[in-house]
Order: sequence, then C-alpha cells, then structure tokens
Amino acid sequence: MSKFNALLCPLVLAAGLLHAQQKMDFEKYDPVSTLVVPEHPLKKAKFPFIDVHNHQRGLGSGNLENLTRDMDALNMKVMVNLSGGNGSGLKAMTDNVKANAPKRFIIFANIDFSGIGEQGWTEKAVKQLQADYDAGAGGLKVFKNLGLSVRDNSGKRVTVDDPRLDAIWDKCGELKMPVLIHTADPKPFWDPMDDHNERWLELQTHPGRRRGPDNPAPWETLIAEQHRMFKKHPRTTFIDAHFGWYANDLGHLSKLMDEMPNIVVEFGAVIAELGRQPKMARQFFEKYQDRILFGKDSWQPDEYATYFRVLETADEYFPYHKKYHAFWRMYGMNLPDDILRKVYYKNALRIIPRIDKSLFP
Ligand SMILES: [Zn+2]
Repeated sequence: MSKFNALLCPLVLAAGLLHAQQKMDFEKYDPVSTLVVPEHPLKKAKFPFIDVHNHQRGLGSGNLENLTRDMDALNMKVMVNLSGGNGSGLKAMTDNVKANAPKRFIIFANIDFSGIGEQGWTEKAVKQLQADYDAGAGGLKVFKNLGLSVRDNSGKRVTVDDPRLDAIWDKCGELKMPVLIHTADPKPFWDPMDDHNERWLELQTHPGRRRGPDNPAPWETLIAEQHRMFKKHPRTTFIDAHFGWYANDLGHLSKLMDEMPNIVVEFGAVIAELGRQPKMARQFFEKYQDRILFGKDSWQPDEYATYFRVLETADEYFPYHKKYHAFWRMYGMNLPDDILRKVYYKNALRIIPRIDKSLFP
C-alpha cells in the first residue's frame, strides 16, 4: 500500500489512533507475567540469621517486643542496629537492649564529625570510641556523609581517607570492632539522567539522590578514597556496605576482594543486582563464601522474602519489591546449605565478636 493510500484508508487510520492511545509512561507499564514455572516463595529464612545492616532509632526505650516478634517470624536471631549514635544515646540503647532483649541486638556506634579540624579532635573522637565500646558497642558504622557532606572547620570536604581519621580506624582494629562503611551511592546517580540511565526511575521519584559528575566529587574519586583507606589499615576489618556498589560488576569486586583481605561485603539494597545474574553471583558466593554477610538496610519485614528467595531457591523470573531499584525480575542462586549458613550467620559471628554464639546451631 502506498503512503497516500494508507493515509486515506479508514481502517489503517483507526489502528493508528488506537496505537497512539496505548502509549504510556514507563512508571505505569506493569505487565502481568504469563510465565508458568515452579514457585517457592519464602517468608522465613532456612537458617537463623543475622542482619548486619539495619537502622532502629527507637531501641533506647520500650520493651522491644513488637520488633523481636517480627524478627522471629523471619528467623532473624540478631539485628545489628547501625544507628547507635554515641555517648549517652548509645548507652541508652545498649542498656535498654540488655534489660529487654539481651543477645538480640548489636549496636554500632557512629562518629561525631562536628568540629573536625579543631585542635585535639582526633584524640577526642578516639576517646569517645573507647567509651562507646565500653558501653557495649559492637562495631562502628560510617554513613555516606563522610566523603559527601562532612566539612572540616575550614569548610573543606573531609575525604574518606582523611589522615585525621586514621587513629579511629586503628583503634577499631585494636578493639576488634568491625567498621561498616557506606561510601558514595550507586554510580548512575552521578551519570546523566537520560533514557540510558538504569536508575532513571529512582532519580525521578527521589530527586534528592541526583548528583551530577562532580557533586561533590566524581564517583570514582570517592570510591578510590575508600579503597586507599582500606589499604592503609590492614589490621582493621571493614564491612563494605552494599557490596561496595560493585554488585553489578562482580569481576571487578573479586579483584578488590583479592587486593584487600581485610574487607568483607554485605548485600543490603543490592539483592536485585544478584538476582539478575544468578550464575555469576553464585560463582562469586562460592569463591568468597567466608566474606559475605547478610544485610538488608531498610526495615520492611515483608521485603526479606525477596532476599531469601534469591539466596535459597532456583526459582526463575520472580518479582522484586521496588520498581525503582529493578524494573527486571529475579532468579534464585540456589546456594547450598553450607554457604547459606556462612552468609546467614557464621561469617557475622566471626566478624562481629560481640554477637552471642549460643543463639546459633
Ligand atoms: Zn543503611
């Protein structure tokens, strides 16, 4: 049919209109899968587990019963609360946990960066860390504000490898306190927000996460600062949060793991990266089975189901719980029991010595 005829033909015109009406937004498109395959949804982990990446600001008061009930339903024996703060706030948490749910929670302290650059700041911070350890802190958590927004008293950005922090990392090594550190964010946050950006929907729904190439430094610069700091403190154990933002490039992460034997990783908020490459991910878990910890980050009990299913089952093409993390579906890694036990609790028991081993088989 010639172009001229097509324009005149009413049927073709009608079809064209219908086509136009069916254009829709990426956010709206939500096809129901017609694939029929065996399904093994899981509400509970196969083995008792330790979540090393959680945030609970309310642990300092209350009987914690609701929380431990939700944890029990998932088979979570111990939760690591990374938002412990320091000083009296931290002590209120360790005291309240001791009184109401001993053994079920581990509290990580946080550094107070205010006044960094002033005379004696480092000594004060190390002293505070010792006091927090004495009050029961099980580790140190460093938020992404280090590298992104922390400024010293002269207004200069404090880099992740700033030498004024060296004594803190060394003290953690001496006290056998692991340091869980989150640096930067997913790389697409620094990339142009265009039709090629894999995190476009997340940047659209969470505009505050958008950065641009130099805000406040290129992504590569921030990550390099973190790696230099890891290498400078080989006697300190670092838990690189969110797989160090390399869950989408496990070949590169393998190289980093080999270069830096003092680091371990946790997969909080990046399980969708593993669930889209189950074969490569399983090889990674086989090779680094002693250096991977279970982490989740946001406390949404029903979302743990996706984590269990990716780790434990051989299921195919099942949904993830947040479209802005993953518009793709998941595949299970089908990990063997001996690796599951390490990831669920054995590795965390070794890395975080203050967790009570008697809770685990
Ligand atoms: Zn977190």
